[in-house]
Amino acid sequence: MNRATSATTAVLTSDIPPADAHVQDVIENAGVYKTLLESTNAIPWKINWATMEFAYIGPQIESLLGWTPDSWKTVDDWVNRMHVEDREYVVNFCVSQSKAGVDHEADYRALKPDGSYVWIRDVVHVVRNEMGEVESLIGFMFDISERKAIENEMQRLNQELEHLSFTDGLTGISNRRLFDTRLESEWAHACTSGLPVSLIVLDIDHFKNFNDIHGHIAGDDCLKRVAGALLSVARRSSDVVARFGGEEFIVLLPDTNQETAYALAQSCAAQIAKLEILHGGSDVSEFVTASFGVGTARACERLSPEMFVKDVDRVLYRAKTSGRNTIALRDAEVMP
Ligand code: GH3
Ligand code: MG
Ligand code: MG
Repeated sequence: MNRATSATTAVLTSDIPPADAHVQDVIENAGVYKTLLESTNAIPWKINWATMEFAYIGPQIESLLGWTPDSWKTVDDWVNRMHVEDREYVVNFCVSQSKAGVDHEADYRALKPDGSYVWIRDVVHVVRNEMGEVESLIGFMFDISERKAIENEMQRLNQELEHLSFTDGLTGISNRRLFDTRLESEWAHACTSGLPVSLIVLDIDHFKNFNDIHGHIAGDDCLKRVAGALLSVARRSSDVVARFGGEEFIVLLPDTNQETAYALAQSCAAQIAKLEILHGGSDVSEFVTASFGVGTARACERLSPEMFVKDVDRVLYRAKTSGRNTIALRDAEVMP
């Protein structure tokens, strides 16, 4: 104890009889506590468990939520001023925890008279009597709107980041990372279903010449338009159109046989032709064209998905060596 404190104690004890001094202390302390409680940003409250009525709620509730302290009469006022989507979970959780005598906390949106909501975190202490029965609940309501807004923004940014990590920066279609992930899951699915998986791999013909003639920016634009053409063909939600790298694209077609995959590759070639992008450096067409490799596999063939991709890539190479602007098949004998 320092000097100042012991001097104060001396004055108090000499002026006031011991019992009264104690009462005085209690009164002073109660005043201090009340002032502290009612000047914090957290709103204190107490509910009588037997009657489910508010025994106390801090006056700050009015500046936070807009409802006067004396409008908080019973637990129903608390329930009815809670966002309807939060109500069932929060009420059930708080009642079960309280019955079990367990301190707890819950986040919910509290209604304001103007119809807007404030995110609240209620931190609840369960007070029990000597027999262990629940006597009352006391707690603090914290305004966590700012924290929730930050959490929501973080969640949005994470989703955006995840989306970006699976998207090709130039064309906006899926990137190789997404393709690899989807191929793996579709391969596993096909292994149990026994359904075929097809791939179309395509590469723009003489694209180096295109860049040399028209410049890199026109080259980029060409890649974007080709990506759009491919997207217009492979439209099922399970199809994946991805940029495989450079001027090479890949299309994953789950549950698709070779005949259908071949027809889709023809549609891709037709859509690219329809763009009528003047090439000027190609010996196969005046417009931009591509060469295609198409393959179909049953996942439980003794083949890994990586080997399958390599295989179809080799098929594409055949299309290149046989003159470009053409479609080569992995199992040529199966098709006309
Ligand atoms: P082939 O018909 O045999 O496929 O010939 P090619 O000229 O298309 O093939 P090559 O591999 O020799 O050249 C590919 C070109 O694609 C070279 C590279 O500069 C260009 N390229 C790759 N990625 C991009 C890109 O993002 N933008 C642009 N503009 N060009 C790209
Ligand atoms: Mg090329
Ligand atoms: Mg290439």
